[in-house]
Amino acid sequence: MSFSFRFDPVELPPEAKELRQEVRTFLREEIDAGTFSPDGGKGSFSREFSRRVGAKGWIGMTWPKKYGGHERSHLERYVVTEEMLAARAPTRAHSTADRQSGPVILRYGQEEIRQKILPQIARGELCFCIGLSEPNSGSDVFAASTRATKTDGGWLVNGRKIWTSGAHHADYMIALLRTSPPTKENRRHGLTQFLVHMKTPGITIRPIINLTGSHDFNEVVFDDAFLPDSHLIGEVDMAWKQATDELAYERSGPDRWIETFPALVELVRLAGEQPSERLAEGIGREVAHLATLRRMSLSVAGMLQAGKTPAVEAAVVKDLGTNFEQALPDKVRLLAPQIGDSQPDSNDDRFEEALRYATLIAPKLTIQGGTREVLRGIIARGLGLR
Ligand SMILES: Cc1cc2nc3c(=O)[nH]c(=O)nc-3n(C[C@H](O)[C@H](O)[C@H](O)COP(=O)(O)OP(=O)(O)OC[C@H]3O[C@@H](n4cnc5c(N)ncnc54)[C@H](O)[C@@H]3O)c2cc1C
Repeated sequence: MSFSFRFDPVELPPEAKELRQEVRTFLREEIDAGTFSPDGGKGSFSREFSRRVGAKGWIGMTWPKKYGGHERSHLERYVVTEEMLAARAPTRAHSTADRQSGPVILRYGQEEIRQKILPQIARGELCFCIGLSEPNSGSDVFAASTRATKTDGGWLVNGRKIWTSGAHHADYMIALLRTSPPTKENRRHGLTQFLVHMKTPGITIRPIINLTGSHDFNEVVFDDAFLPDSHLIGEVDMAWKQATDELAYERSGPDRWIETFPALVELVRLAGEQPSERLAEGIGREVAHLATLRRMSLSVAGMLQAGKTPAVEAAVVKDLGTNFEQALPDKVRLLAPQIGDSQPDSNDDRFEEALRYATLIAPKLTIQGGTREVLRGIIARGLGLR
């Protein structure tokens, strides 16, 4: 068997450690000022917060300065992402643009668009959504059928995208659209990426309510929506080469193993200084998993820093990460009786709320960003097994 991926250990440089303290101070001040609450009670979307993060220089951190970036390392970006997520800071207004859409525009967008859009993203002014999935093409993104047809000075779009997270807040979408039929030789041929302004006439956004009762994702309908030529991203019909990079940005970060983490934090808090042996052992096991995932995720950040596209390694982190975070609520629930009555606040609301939230979001974790089965297919290919 040939192993064609590896996770080299990566140590955070001193500047990343200093940055971590700076981010923690900033977050503490934001919590004290009432901007957000670490129990998620004030929501995950705040344009004002995103602007302040932008002013700190923590969006578009790795991008060139000429596009509003800060030319810092992927490891420094990793630290900022990790601290924001662990605190449940309201990053949704900028996180997709920072993680995914900005890097795609930087790499494949037209110069005019780079100069216009990237500095606005870096200032925390623009919210993006991702238009890949359609009613008949979820995992198989290359079966997308929403069409972009060439017209004078641009393209006319007709069709539907679905499960589009945050479309109702977004200023822009990066959409994968069909510009030609697939060829016999390459069924992935014929799709093109476009920048779509969400206020374009002909776009309708319909809410879809999720299991937690929240409005997070949407159906987006296109009816002769016009996109100018400058909004073409990369080569016509060749998006299959670009979308792979985009998914590598999406899959490896702490976002993929930290969503149910607050339930563990609350358990540790309630366990106190003198947990029972069984509780200490249970917590220790989960923390050991978490530490391993963290090292792997950090290793992927190191590969991005080295200019690689670690698509397979990112899939491994996402698969292991979602397994961990999906199983965590049940493990915390099983350990909870060990907290004991001696702890004064063992029925604490924060614990209950964190566990409730983790339980409700757990089912989606192995679907978003690529299902478990699809990721394992990618990993199998990376191992030379298919
Ligand atoms: C919370 C959340 C947020 C999302 N946000 C977005 C977003 O912002 N933008 C966007 O475009 N999409 C988004 N999605 C959609 C998500 O990426 C797709 O739902 C996902 O790719 C699965 O597609 P599907 O629901 O059509 O299921 P299907 O693709 O129909 O899959 C159904 C089942 O079949 C399995 N399966 C499919 N193909 C294979 C295969 N080749 N081998 C083995 N098993 C297979 C799958 O693993 C799954 O279990 C989001 C989803 C969730 C849950």
